[in-house]
Amino acid sequence: MSINIAIDGPVASGKGAVTKGLSKKLGIPALDTGAIYRAVTLFLLDNEIDIHDEKKILMSLNKISVRLYLAENHDLRVFTQGQDVTPRIRENRVSLAVPVVAAYVGVRDYVNRQIALVASQGNYILEGRDIGTVVLPNADYKFFLTASLEVRAKRRKADLDAKGEEYSLLEVMAQVKERDEQDMNRAIAPLRQAPDAIYIDNSNLTLEQTIDTLAKYIKL
Ligand code: C5P
Repeated sequence: MSINIAIDGPVASGKGAVTKGLSKKLGIPALDTGAIYRAVTLFLLDNEIDIHDEKKILMSLNKISVRLYLAENHDLRVFTQGQDVTPRIRENRVSLAVPVVAAYVGVRDYVNRQIALVASQGNYILEGRDIGTVVLPNADYKFFLTASLEVRAKRRKADLDAKGEEYSLLEVMAQVKERDEQDMNRAIAPLRQAPDAIYIDNSNLTLEQTIDTLAKYIKL
């Protein structure tokens, strides 16, 4: 019997780190679906394709080759046109542009096809924004992970500081809020908690505690 686990949540809710930790703990491979939206967005920015030009974006989708490799240590590496773009997809300019690109139905269809290619066989933990609602509506376990805006902005700022991208906490808070609003208010597959998802607010939990909280629900 295969097990599918869906983890959704807003920006800097800890989904990435929690999914990775849970994947190690349970021995189930994980897929960060946001990485594919990021790779598409980076390709558009690199090729100076206007992210507001939906027609042009749709035409360029068949030129993009995105490949994902899951390393033994559970790290995901992302290749676009044969180039390893893993660190570059996390640049803040990509983070700020990706909700615009992810709102186009053609882009979502493209990404969902990539997800289906990777996750077609066996057990998987998928993390994103619409996994429990659209991608895996029949997932065995669904989680909606979140934390207060302030906690999430502080986490995001720490990530950006570590990469040498300097913003004030207020700027980061505004960016996080804006990205969430774009993801929650788009017409197709908006970010929302699936009715049958388990809600976890990890504002006051460590990473380990959050992983343990999710793991307790899962019976393999
Ligand atoms: O999870 P991450 O922050 O890397 O995702 C980047 C962006 O990709 C999100 O802000 C959202 O716009 C988009 N996304 C999405 N659906 C998913 C995963 C990510 O729309 N399943």
